[in-house]
Amino acid sequence: MDLTESSRFLHQMGMQTKLDVSDANARLHGLIEELIASGVVSMRKLEERTAKARVEERERTAKQAVVTIGSTVDKYALDSATLPQIDCAALIPLCKGRCCKLVFPLSFQDLDEGVVRWEYGAPYQIRHGDDGYCVHSKPEARGCGVYAQRPHICRTYDCRKDARIWTDFDNRIPAPDEATTVVQIRKRSP
Ligand code: SF4
Repeated sequence: MDLTESSRFLHQMGMQTKLDVSDANARLHGLIEELIASGVVSMRKLEERTAKARVEERERTAKQAVVTIGSTVDKYALDSATLPQIDCAALIPLCKGRCCKLVFPLSFQDLDEGVVRWEYGAPYQIRHGDDGYCVHSKPEARGCGVYAQRPHICRTYDCRKDARIWTDFDNRIPAPDEATTVVQIRKRSP
């Protein structure tokens, strides 16, 4: 709990910093508009330089860590009639439960419950084991070990059209294993 609390504090700090930066950006924008209006800066030259700066900025931030958080939908309020009707128990011998290898962020609802685990190196993505599966996926039968508290995405996800899981769902042809290979976050982090 201490670690979770400290991590959440750090992320709130991160969000506050993000908001401060956003405010600074707004001020800069206002200044630029004033410089253009008073003829000190040409709009065309500014656009050229900004376009170049944007490309550089995207390259620079692409390598930065980000905090991801999942949907705000109440997972317990989902209407079961709208959920995908898939007989996972019958299909797992074919698909090997590989949907549980996919990466997705937990919601604040999941975090508040404190049952489903997340990657400390990539907050708040669901935690994977060394086998590439979610740590809650039971190795023997690939069933879900936290079924009652499973995240919103696990309840609404529909694998039937996902080429990472099925080459042809109707003919029960699973996709090749490598189609669902997920890079291990912890291994990647220094
Ligand atoms: S929480 Fe359960 S259903 Fe969701 S990915 Fe993990 S094992 Fe699969």
